[in-house]
Amino acid sequence: MSRSEELFERARRVIPGGVHSPVRSLRAVGRKPLFIERADGAMLTDVDGNRYVDFCMAFGPMILGHRHPAVRDAVAAALDRGWSFGAAEAVSLELAETITSRIEWVESVRFVNSGTEAVMSALRLARAATGRDGILKFEGCYHGHADAMLIGAGSGLAGSATADSAGIPAGVVSDTLVAPLDDDARVQQIFAERGARIAAAIIEPVPANCGLLPQRLEFLRSLARLCRRHGALLIFDEVITGFRMAFGGFAEVSGLCPDIVTWGKVIGGGFPVGAIAGRRDLLRQFAPDGAVYQAGTLSANPVAMTAGLATLGALLDGAVYGRLEELGQDLDTMLADAAGIRLQRCGSMFWLIATSDDEGGPVIRTKAHIPQDAAQGYVGLFRRALEGGVYLPPSPYEVGFLSAAHSRTDIEALAANCAR
Ligand SMILES: *Cc1c(COP(=O)(O)O)cnc(C)c1O
Repeated sequence: MSRSEELFERARRVIPGGVHSPVRSLRAVGRKPLFIERADGAMLTDVDGNRYVDFCMAFGPMILGHRHPAVRDAVAAALDRGWSFGAAEAVSLELAETITSRIEWVESVRFVNSGTEAVMSALRLARAATGRDGILKFEGCYHGHADAMLIGAGSGLAGSATADSAGIPAGVVSDTLVAPLDDDARVQQIFAERGARIAAAIIEPVPANCGLLPQRLEFLRSLARLCRRHGALLIFDEVITGFRMAFGGFAEVSGLCPDIVTWGKVIGGGFPVGAIAGRRDLLRQFAPDGAVYQAGTLSANPVAMTAGLATLGALLDGAVYGRLEELGQDLDTMLADAAGIRLQRCGSMFWLIATSDDEGGPVIRTKAHIPQDAAQGYVGLFRRALEGGVYLPPSPYEVGFLSAAHSRTDIEALAANCAR
């Protein structure tokens, strides 16, 4: 028995499913979990001493690579000053100022501990600001595990919804409307019928949690117009794309700015940080100035803030984004002729679709258009890659990430393992 197997046996006794987040179980790729001992640069080492080039990168936060020296040193120095004060401190101020001075339309930031928390508080803020209860979300987007967001499209009418998890109250389901991505007419219809009760529409502007499903800019523009016309707020969930596509995320790349943005992942550089940000007149409705309650014992933890500050500091001049795009183009070239693999890529986020229908064709923009054989195909691809020393995201629907620590050789290793 390997050490990973031994540890998993023990873990299953005291931890539900042996893991603290379901996708880590590796069930989606028909394997038992690997227990990781350490990470450095683009490499992961498991407890059995196996080394892998990592393309999961902790599901997104590690844009500079694992154990980046600037982040490591800043965190070590922060630890030396104590690691939690439950009081105001200046590191979170510096991080907030770094963000607001660089991203013009963002005037105010509230830090929390995760993307889920950021979304949960953004929804409360939108409901308070509009005096409405309804939330419109999109099939194929993930916004964390708050009740209101674990809701998918029902089978019947436009906008009907069903819970994606047990334990979601019926009242919460009835306040959530779900539309398909890439379907302007359906969104228009939903606003025409129920626009007056929609507090906010929330969307991942580049959906990256059900594969990578890039949206037409016109679809997002039309959504923004509908929100404005009907007095609803637009929330961009940029938990993955923020500070990754560009410093200012999708909003910077597209010029399309939401009323509220949620961040997570990269913003904490691998530590638990999320944020709600946007216009001052909205954000000031949070307690203590406003009536929207929002709080956290560990919010803006100084060690986590320090890691975020060091990470964002390394991204400010834009050089990392140029390098990531170069690596991405290498990946495009190397996978262009790979049999049985389609690639969708957006900057440093990429999605490997293992399908016999690999002739290209139109960009896949909705869950419904994902090839039927992709889930099964990915099981084989993941295992083959793992045996070849490459750790892919452990689910057919999770995207892969490039980091500043990856090299052309790493991309070659990935491509070699994709080829059958
Ligand atoms: C990861 C993610 C979340 C949830 O963030 P957690 O930190 O896992 O709670 C929310 N929205 C999007 C778009 C995400 O990718």
